[in-house]
Amino acid sequence: PTALMVGSGIGAENGVLIRSGEAIQTMKDVHTIVFDKTGTITKGRPEVTDIVKNGEFEERDVLYFAASVEHGSEHPLAQAILEVAEKKRIKLGKVTNFETSTGKGIIGKVVEKEVAVGNKKLMKELNIDFTDLIKDVERLEDEAKTAMMVAVDKKAAGIIAEADTLKEDSIQAINELERRGIKTVMITGDNKRTGEAIAKKVGISRVLAEVLPEDKVAEIKRLQDEVGLVAMVGDGINDAPALKQANVGIAIGTGTDIAIESSDITLVRGDLSSVIVALNLSQAVFRKIKQNYFWAWAYNGVAIPLAAIGLLHAMIGVAAMALSSVTVITNSLRLRKAKIKPKYLK
Ligand code: ADP
Ligand code: MG
Repeated sequence: PTALMVGSGIGAENGVLIRSGEAIQTMKDVHTIVFDKTGTITKGRPEVTDIVKNGEFEERDVLYFAASVEHGSEHPLAQAILEVAEKKRIKLGKVTNFETSTGKGIIGKVVEKEVAVGNKKLMKELNIDFTDLIKDVERLEDEAKTAMMVAVDKKAAGIIAEADTLKEDSIQAINELERRGIKTVMITGDNKRTGEAIAKKVGISRVLAEVLPEDKVAEIKRLQDEVGLVAMVGDGINDAPALKQANVGIAIGTGTDIAIESSDITLVRGDLSSVIVALNLSQAVFRKIKQNYFWAWAYNGVAIPLAAIGLLHAMIGVAAMALSSVTVITNSLRLRKAKIKPKYLK
């Protein structure tokens, strides 16, 4: 307990809040870490990069229809479209029958036209033919962009693509984890191509893409059956159940409250290097626990038998007892000397 307490303090000083003592002990044995994509590996503030038009539709039409329906969405992807529409002074149309299809997109009626904005799954569900634009969609996805298809009255009107920037230290942190033999996995609701393009950029070895929010838990369970202990790092509402399911749930401190509530460890700064700090801390704390056991046993194991056969003066027994506690405490305090920051940060 002393080592854990000192460890928690050191964690807090370094932006790693430990909410469960058990988790910090488990962390050192984890060999697979799952990262949510948006808001965890990336900053979670996507920006529009490309607008593709099709048939009789102009770029402004694509923006007008998309922005009008996205006005009703809270998704970060929607926010970026609205910003561009505003910049281009596009007046939005009135929307009725607005509906969100989780993990797929949105639909709504803009004045008299049926508009859908979303991914391939959504267009397939609505039976809308996008063959004209599929080459463009795939090209954009290979560039690590999220391509949203815009359909107007069942016709392919265009594509709006967005890209999200990686957090500054994502590449370094992932590389360091992989170097240490930890398998990194990305989980995302985004499509496979985009997921894989981003994974390649950051050096993540495995991608679980097109995972609906409600399926994240099942994916973690499956991974646990396959590899044993799994840690999960996430920031969103839809990550919360998966954080609970993981053996160690790690929340990004700049993320949603519910993710933080569901976590064992919270990273105040929200950068991925803090995952390495948590891992180093876990190893350092465990080393201390082992050393403390050794010292407690050494004193008691030697002194008690000696005292029992009358070879030890009572006062020496008292001193040994006290020394045992003092050793454990001073040894724990020496945790402060442990190097828990990744080397590349120095
Ligand atoms: P994530 O948070 O991992 O990016 P989501 O489950 O929120 O995943 O979304 C998955 C996919 O569904 C998005 O990549 C996008 O293609 C589509 N989508 C979700 N919400 C919207 C929206 N408001 N407008 C357009 N597409 C959307
Ligand atoms: Mg997220």
